[in-house]
Amino acid sequence: MSTPPSRHCAYCLVLMLPENVKVCGKCRRRAYCSVECQTSDWSVKGDGQRHRKWCDLNCGEEDLDWKVVPVPGKGLGVIALRQIPAHSRIMVDGWRPNNPLGAKLINDMEPAGGTFLDKVNVNGFRAENPSHVICARLARVNHNCAANAFHLMGAESRVKILFSLKDIEKGEEICIAYSWLDDERFSKDPVPTDGIRRALEKDYGIVCPLDCICRDKEIQTLAKERNQLFERVNDWAASDIEGSPSVLSSVISAVKRLLEISETVPILSMRIVDCLLNGYYAAKMKGDNRTARQFLKRCKTLTELMYHPESEKNTRLVDLD
Ligand SMILES: [Zn+2]
Ligand SMILES: [Zn+2]
Ligand SMILES: [Zn+2]
Repeated sequence: MSTPPSRHCAYCLVLMLPENVKVCGKCRRRAYCSVECQTSDWSVKGDGQRHRKWCDLNCGEEDLDWKVVPVPGKGLGVIALRQIPAHSRIMVDGWRPNNPLGAKLINDMEPAGGTFLDKVNVNGFRAENPSHVICARLARVNHNCAANAFHLMGAESRVKILFSLKDIEKGEEICIAYSWLDDERFSKDPVPTDGIRRALEKDYGIVCPLDCICRDKEIQTLAKERNQLFERVNDWAASDIEGSPSVLSSVISAVKRLLEISETVPILSMRIVDCLLNGYYAAKMKGDNRTARQFLKRCKTLTELMYHPESEKNTRLVDLD
C-alpha cells in the first residue's frame, strides 16, 4: 500500500502529517487541519474559497494535482503532479481579506524584505471589489509568455480560477502570462508584444529570454491579426445593427479565424468566449444554423470551465440553441 501524501491545509496552508489530514466529507479531496479552517473555507460568507460552491466541481487540489516547489532561478513555483488535460480547472483560490491570517500569508510572499504594499502590488490581482485579491497559492504560479494556464476572476464567488490552456505533463511547471495581449494598453501598438515585455520588466522585473515566443515574428504577426479580428467582432456587436449578409459573413469568418489562431497563440481564452457568442448571433442572423451551433457549443464548453456554473455568464447561455 502506498502512503497517502502529506497535505497542506487548503485554508491556512499549514503542512500536515498524513495522519492529521482531514478531508472534505463530500469530495474527499480538499484537505484541512481543523474544523475551524474547514468552516472558514466552506461558507459563502467565509473568507476562503467558499468551498460549498466549488465542492465536486472538478477543481484541482494542492498535493493531489499540483504542488508548490522550489524552481531553479525563480524561487517557488507550481508543478503538475499528474497529467492535466487541456481545459481543466487547476485551482480555485479564495481571496483573503485583511485579517491576521491574510496578513501573514502576504508577509510570506515576495519580494523578501519588501513592505506590505510592495507584496500586495506584486502578488495581488486587480479586481473590482475589493480592489485587490490575494490568492496565496495562485501567487506562486510563475510567468511564462508561452503560458500553459490562464486565470480569471470568478466575480460572483470572489475567487480566481486557474485552468489549463493545453495538456500539461506530470512534472511540468504550470505558468500564466502576467502580462499578455488582453492588456488593452498594448492592443493598438504596432508590435503589441514589445509593450508587454516593457511592462513585464517594469512591473515584475522579468526579462524574457532571447528565444521567448513574444520575440517571435510569426507570433507577433498573429497577435496583431488577433487584435484586429477582436476589434472587427466587437465593433459589429457594439454597432447594434444586424448588418448585410457580407458584414455577417465577415464577422463569422473573423470568429473562425480567431479559433484557428488560438491553436497557436492559446492565450486568449477569456475574450474568445464573448467573440464566440457574437459569432453565434451573426451566424443565426445569416441563417447558418450549423456554424451557430458549433460556436455556441465551444462557447458553452469554455464558459462552464471558466466560470461558476451558476454565474450569469453561464445562465445567459442556457436558453440559446
Ligand atoms: Zn488550517
Ligand atoms: Zn469538498
Ligand atoms: Zn516573453
